Amino acid sequence: MKKVAINIFRILFDTFLPPRCVICHDVVYKENGLCHKCFKNISFLSDQSCPVCGRPYTFPVEESELICGKCLSNPPQLQGLKAVFAYDDYSKKLILPFKHADRTDLVPFLSKLLYYRGKSVLKNADYIIPVPLYWQRLVKRKYNQSALLAVKLSKLVERPFLLNTLLRIKKTQSQGHKNREERIKNIQNAFCVRHPEKIKGKTIVLIDDVYTTGATLNECAKVLRQAGAKRVEALVLARVCYF
Ligand SMILES: [Zn+2]
Ligand SMILES: [Zn+2]
Repeated sequence: MKKVAINIFRILFDTFLPPRCVICHDVVYKENGLCHKCFKNISFLSDQSCPVCGRPYTFPVEESELICGKCLSNPPQLQGLKAVFAYDDYSKKLILPFKHADRTDLVPFLSKLLYYRGKSVLKNADYIIPVPLYWQRLVKRKYNQSALLAVKLSKLVERPFLLNTLLRIKKTQSQGHKNREERIKNIQNAFCVRHPEKIKGKTIVLIDDVYTTGATLNECAKVLRQAGAKRVEALVLARVCYF
């Protein structure tokens, strides 16, 4: 009887307040998803990419272990990267409101995307760690978007998260308009590990929203590996790609 009442309530609720696409707000069948048009416009990425830096390949790759030339010549500190979609004008419509406009209602949808994309690495993680914000930025923004994703993901994948072990100790300028070299210099010595004993010998999956040049994630991976982490990989929503 209770179930029937709940179903009637849901039908009435959906009739007057139907679920909407998270980008364009068109009516969709179920909440927390994208409509046909928005789904088509997002460039989802797959394992047809370099397993180390996530650079997508434009040719079919039989095995996902083909490492790109850049990573072979100069192995980054970050040992693996998976991104859900390419960072472009369309995916910005998801990322920017989530990052800067209090759209924390996107967390369930975005963390589910991260979960499906990163299941294979998440299941081996000892800890899921979000890229931290400097405390002044956290106060200004009111939330750390990567931490919200990490907490939700941790529930989905049933692996623990750590929030106050990797710390951002330097106020850095925005990476927005900087080139690769400037980004690397800007982010140097920005992080530290508070309890290295927690990290020693562990496999870490870092969570962030956007991978641009990799400077931030590589700096995080560097301090975690210096603290004794066995392996550091990352899972991000979007990656800047030049196809
Ligand atoms: Zn839409
Ligand atoms: Zn690579």
